[in-house]
Amino acid sequence: MRSGSALHVVHEPDHGIDLAAAERAAGDFLRALGVSIESESLRGTPERMARAYAEMFTPRPFDLTTFPNDEGYDELVLARDIPVRSVCEHHLLPFTGVAHVGYLPGERILGLSKLARVVEHFACRPQVQERLTKQVAGWLSDQLGPKGVGVVIEAEHSCMTLRGVQAIGSTTVTSALLGTLREDARSRSEFFALTGVNK
Ligand SMILES: [Zn+2]
Repeated sequence: MRSGSALHVVHEPDHGIDLAAAERAAGDFLRALGVSIESESLRGTPERMARAYAEMFTPRPFDLTTFPNDEGYDELVLARDIPVRSVCEHHLLPFTGVAHVGYLPGERILGLSKLARVVEHFACRPQVQERLTKQVAGWLSDQLGPKGVGVVIEAEHSCMTLRGVQAIGSTTVTSALLGTLREDARSRSEFFALTGVNK
């Protein structure tokens, strides 16, 4: 939803995080797994767990200022290697990696640092990588009205590397392309060449 105003403010939704309840539940969870929390070093662990997850599920609010594209810049704008830290919603274990986010400007452009904030905004919640990739692309498309959007995320999932198949070092690559970057083969291959991802 583009509006006439150049300034959009994105606030985190009110999650109603109840830290005390989360701390009690974390203590119960650890005891149920046979982990004693009686020792001095573990006594504060349920509280630290609750705070850590609350932090990971709370994106920082940010202002998204867009500018009119007065110069008519129509080449790809790409931010590479944006850090991604999220938590897989199936195991509640972290997945980490990088995002490459690009767009072909239409009427409006965006401060470059904001591309990283958009990634963070959608990463700070229980996620699956495929949805995160699509949400970043869809949000940019809605807010900027660009000619095209491309998002690639490469991430290592600790639920794959620390347990289960223990596929250490394996990364998962997801991509979402919209507009010209989806439809035009030359734009698409230019985008993937600049991200360094072989597609
Ligand atoms: Zn998982």
